Amino acid sequence: MKCPLCKGTMERGETTLPFELGADRVVVVKHVPALTCQQCGDYFVELDVTKRVEKFVAVATKDGLTLGFLDYQQAA
Ligand SMILES: [Zn+2]
Repeated sequence: MKCPLCKGTMERGETTLPFELGADRVVVVKHVPALTCQQCGDYFVELDVTKRVEKFVAVATKDGLTLGFLDYQQAA
């Protein structure tokens, strides 16, 4: 697939997704599989991956986590 912004080549890689869950709750998910543009660095995360990340974040933050890092590889 081509980058929607610059038409550059998108390649499989990983990205880091920050999730804001409110004013004082931020969770960053590392190692999320994504298509990354080799030219401008824009990325595209597939829908099933996004859904899995959201579920993962929801479970992790149930324990009262307000700030932290999660690793996608541990959710899979
Ligand atoms: Zn691009």
